[in-house]
Amino acid sequence: MYDALVIGGGPAGLQAALTLGRMHRTAVLVDSGRYRNGTVEHAHNFMTHDGRAPGEIRKLAREDIAEYDTVELRDATVHSVREEGDGFVAETDDGPIEARTLVLATGLTDVLPDVPGLREAWGREVAACPFCHGHELAGRRIGLVGEGPHVPMMVAMLAPIASEVLTFGNDEVVAVEPTSDGLLLRLRAGEPVEVGGLFTHPAFEQSAPFAAQLGLEMLPSGCVRVDVLGQTSHPRVFAAGDLAHVADLPMPMASVLLAAAAGLVAGSSVVRSLAAEAVASVG
Ligand SMILES: Cc1cc2nc3c(=O)[nH]c(=O)nc-3n(C[C@H](O)[C@H](O)[C@H](O)COP(=O)(O)OP(=O)(O)OC[C@H]3O[C@@H](n4cnc5c(N)ncnc54)[C@H](O)[C@@H]3O)c2cc1C
Repeated sequence: MYDALVIGGGPAGLQAALTLGRMHRTAVLVDSGRYRNGTVEHAHNFMTHDGRAPGEIRKLAREDIAEYDTVELRDATVHSVREEGDGFVAETDDGPIEARTLVLATGLTDVLPDVPGLREAWGREVAACPFCHGHELAGRRIGLVGEGPHVPMMVAMLAPIASEVLTFGNDEVVAVEPTSDGLLLRLRAGEPVEVGGLFTHPAFEQSAPFAAQLGLEMLPSGCVRVDVLGQTSHPRVFAAGDLAHVADLPMPMASVLLAAAAGLVAGSSVVRSLAAEAVASVG
């Protein structure tokens, strides 16, 4: 039985595994290879990695982890997790895995609006986060699709970057087409508009069913509730990255650096809880 099973090989899971390895805990990390930023060529706003390809960040992290003998990385999919005895059993397409604790780092999946061309441009000309992708559109006209109180905030955030910010209601843009250096927005009414890039705010859902299978407490955002130490409503299940946040936030602050930081917290919490059990067992 491993000390910990880490499900997810994005920044949250990779950092949790590194932390466990540095503390000589036995751990296995399982990664199905489906990342939220899988279509992104350059990740930004992470000191020392600004502009680096997300796949390269993951490759470097795997190389770091390979230095620690007690951690295994497996490219596989976990199908289910159940509690059994003092630990958990995960059924994977690489056989069952038993572990005393769990770190869930399975991330979120964006549910994109059904606009032709949008999916193909997602992570390139179309994005959600101005901190991640705003600067690359400096001096250009930027489009913003959405409705609600976040729209004026987004306009105010983009104003110092863009030459102009054009806003569109949810149903106004009916198709997006790539141009040589941006996008052509086809509108329900009126002439098409050219922009350098487009921001939208898609819905999201959990990428994996494990929080539901384990009956973990969820937040109104649809994310797993964790405390500041990354502990879920189950004392031996920890969660890190986009899939979870503290109740004080309305939604996760999605960022590679913050996901990695949450992975460090969750990995440390696993170590702390196992150490506390050891202390209790010797009285
Ligand atoms: C378009 C876009 C652009 C972005 N750009 C930036 C940026 O420039 N800078 C920045 O800081 N952030 C950016 N982000 C946010 C960033 O990508 C996320 O915050 C970050 O990836 C979250 O990391 P994570 O480890 O929680 O999840 P992910 O990176 O999504 O990793 C989830 C992991 O769980 C695994 N998994 C899921 N289900 C299973 C299963 N059943 N079995 C095994 N493994 C499973 C997946 O394979 C994957 O390994 C961007 C996001 C998007 C959508």
